[in-house]
Amino acid sequence: MTTGHLEHQIRSRLAAGGVRFTDGRRRVVAALAEADGPRSAAELHAALGTSIPLSSLYRSLSVMADAGALAHHHGSKGVTRYELAEWLTGHHHHLVCVDCGTVDDIELSEDLETTLQNVVKRVAKSAGFAADGHTLEIDGLCTDCQ
Ligand SMILES: [Zn+2]
Ligand SMILES: [Zn+2]
Repeated sequence: MTTGHLEHQIRSRLAAGGVRFTDGRRRVVAALAEADGPRSAAELHAALGTSIPLSSLYRSLSVMADAGALAHHHGSKGVTRYELAEWLTGHHHHLVCVDCGTVDDIELSEDLETTLQNVVKRVAKSAGFAADGHTLEIDGLCTDCQ
């Protein structure tokens, strides 16, 4: 997906929620689009430099998440990370490092995704739950922490 197309989609989504797509928010979106997984406000702050105050970064992330452009990831150690919502980037899963806390995106092959969907359906059904989505979270150690 081109950044222009992505920005257009996010701009419309935010506009529908009465949220302005400011220059700072565009830079946050660009940083998230480049990241390999969900990022915390502190991680984004480090990536973007100090030009965006941490307080406005927190606010931008929260309003863009409320508008449905970003998704939360509640990772290990109570840190909230954000990523572009799946309707923008596609369905995927997460590898969560329990040591450094890094969260990486991972996409499954069509085969594995189908297998996982069947497992999810069976688990949900056995609990009388009407599933409408899933995200697989694999905890462990990233290559740097092993
Ligand atoms: Zn790690
Ligand atoms: Zn993700």
